[in-house]
Amino acid sequence: AAKNRGKGRFVVFDQSMQDRVRSRVGLEVDLRRALETDEIHLAYQPIVCLNSGAIVGAEALVRWTHPSQGMLSPAAFLPVAEASGLILPLGRRVLELACAQATRWLADRPGNDFVISVNLSVHQLQHRGMVEEICAVVDGAGLPPAALMLEITESAMVHDGELVATQVERLRALGFGVALDDFGTGYSSITHLQRFRVDQLKIDRSFVAADDGVCEAVLRLAELLGLETVAEGIETAEQARRVRDFGCKYGQGYWFAKPVAPEAFQELLSAPARVLAA
Ligand code: C2E
Ligand code: MG
Ligand code: MG
Ligand code: MG
Repeated sequence: AAKNRGKGRFVVFDQSMQDRVRSRVGLEVDLRRALETDEIHLAYQPIVCLNSGAIVGAEALVRWTHPSQGMLSPAAFLPVAEASGLILPLGRRVLELACAQATRWLADRPGNDFVISVNLSVHQLQHRGMVEEICAVVDGAGLPPAALMLEITESAMVHDGELVATQVERLRALGFGVALDDFGTGYSSITHLQRFRVDQLKIDRSFVAADDGVCEAVLRLAELLGLETVAEGIETAEQARRVRDFGCKYGQGYWFAKPVAPEAFQELLSAPARVLAA
């Protein structure tokens, strides 16, 4: 068909665009195949209580060990997964791996609470069977619903507000936790907080890093609304101390630990807590 439109059509379709399209299509083919192998795996980053230093949970972050391109981060393949619809089977795989792992960590540490946080994309939330699917995976893993925190972004709320709100309500009614991820980077955040009841706010690392009062304001707002808070992207002791002093309960970031493979996370669980000086 392209041939019939004449030579001129090819001029605008330059080499770099062609490469981009080819690599996208290639990545999609590869991802489809990867979902039948164990190339998809998870890294776990501790979520820490800022007062005690104890690890109270982990965020599961998807990774792909591509046969020729090596380890790919989510930014490299999530857009392809979203555009192709592969985000649904990928998201299911992530949930299965995370729930199975969390069940083992819970069993290993009797008496300790542990919450596994899993990111959900907009597409997953817009999928009507998603709540049933999550229940099936969690049941299958033998994980208590309260041990799963689902992280959604504000953009999900803008996309299809009604459906997303309903799904979020159903998930919370079933006992799952819901966190608002990257809080503050979307738009009309405060309006969303009134319409969507969530359990936790994850303060975006851009606010954690800046020392301009915004982080403090956001933390005070969360406190007034009775929301649990996690400060993301803590890279220094100074940042950890500041958010703790503003009333933030939990933190996550390279200063505590980078996202790591399950075996390394297991070691973090048995290591002494990193307590912040007063
Ligand atoms: P996110 O959910 O906000 O996850 C936190 C990201 O910040 C992770 O990047 C993590 O490695 C990074 N991070 C943690 N601590 C620090 C720090 O101290 N400094 C800096 N500079 N970065 C830090 P990652 O793993 O590359 O993931 C990027 C994004 O991809 C995630 O952002 C999330 O939106 C998405 N994502 C990751 N895994 C999944 C998944 O399984 N499903 C879906 N739908 N999205 C995912
Ligand atoms: Mg997240
Ligand atoms: Mg985040
Ligand atoms: Mg973030």
